[in-house]
Amino acid sequence: MNDKQPNIDPWGSELVGEKDYQRIIEEFGIEQVEDLDIPASFFEDNQFFRRKLIIGHRGFETILKAIKLQKPWAIMSGIKPSGKFHLGTLMTAKEMVELQNQGGFVYYSIADIESYVDHGMTYETALEIAQDNIADIIALGLDVNRAYIWLQSKEKLVKEMVFEAGRYVTLAMMKAIYGERRFGLYNCALVQVGDILLPQLKEEVMPTVVPVGLDQDPHLRLVRDLSKYFKRDGVDLIKPASTYHKLLPSLTDITKKMSKSISGSSFYFDQPEEEISKIILRTYTGGRRNKKEQQELGGEPDKCMIYQILKIYFEPDDTKLGEVFQKCINGELMCGDHKRECAEKVLDFVKNHIKKKERAIDIARQLLNFD
Ligand code: SF4
Repeated sequence: MNDKQPNIDPWGSELVGEKDYQRIIEEFGIEQVEDLDIPASFFEDNQFFRRKLIIGHRGFETILKAIKLQKPWAIMSGIKPSGKFHLGTLMTAKEMVELQNQGGFVYYSIADIESYVDHGMTYETALEIAQDNIADIIALGLDVNRAYIWLQSKEKLVKEMVFEAGRYVTLAMMKAIYGERRFGLYNCALVQVGDILLPQLKEEVMPTVVPVGLDQDPHLRLVRDLSKYFKRDGVDLIKPASTYHKLLPSLTDITKKMSKSISGSSFYFDQPEEEISKIILRTYTGGRRNKKEQQELGGEPDKCMIYQILKIYFEPDDTKLGEVFQKCINGELMCGDHKRECAEKVLDFVKNHIKKKERAIDIARQLLNFD
């Protein structure tokens, strides 16, 4: 990244590790989760907060207040269609479903304009991919009766935001937030402003939360700044809130970013079982050089991708996760055995997911049928 670029790139972040996270949190004034007054019942229902996978937020107190007062609130999320669902795309979808279970109404954007601008993908291809992705999200538990899903290219209010929000934005502002970019990407950022404000523009003025990886903060800074210019029925919109999770590193190297182009860095849910199994067995661990050292010193679960994926996705039981941590640091768990156990868990999840997805694909096609 050259010196004209900002510290966070929402279209290709290289952020990995605690040092990067702390620097970004401090530099951009992201708020601490510890400063929120979160009721115990919220923690119980939300694995991402409970397990400290959320590392910062902006304005999340508006959502907690709406929950407390039993007022409507929205979860805004979306996907840029680019390929099949994989381990890296799972986290935001699971967060969204969990928040929906806590009472929020889901607004979900299919960013087909961004797929076209960023990757040259046709709208037809983006739609096909999106239908497949939505089937994955339904399989993960999305209640489609409490969700509104749209394509950017078909949603008038969202597309018009390029001109509406564009009235208040200068090139200098965009460069300060995103660095020097193709103009199409600046336009996409303004379309995203439309996505994020859509729950309030379309439905009613209400708190909205956008659960994202830390690398997406530039979009949130832009929309939070611009929201003050918009009203609905004469009422000012509420500044959208956000939560930030850590970005999942590569399965093969905890210091590198997960990348679809690096073999073994992640896996797709529709990959053959043997391939998924092999990837898990090759995953980077926090284990010692040999059995003797592992028994004497214990492993380092905080540096281990096996432990990370269990914590984020595949071990829902806190007690069992705690036991894994203890056994690992006590040197009672060997990495080879543990990887095999983890592979079984992952394959169980994947088999179950595929069955649910097969049942969901027709629903996804109907939902995304815009003919
Ligand atoms: S025993 Fe398990 S959790 Fe501990 S370092 Fe090895 S693979 Fe990771």
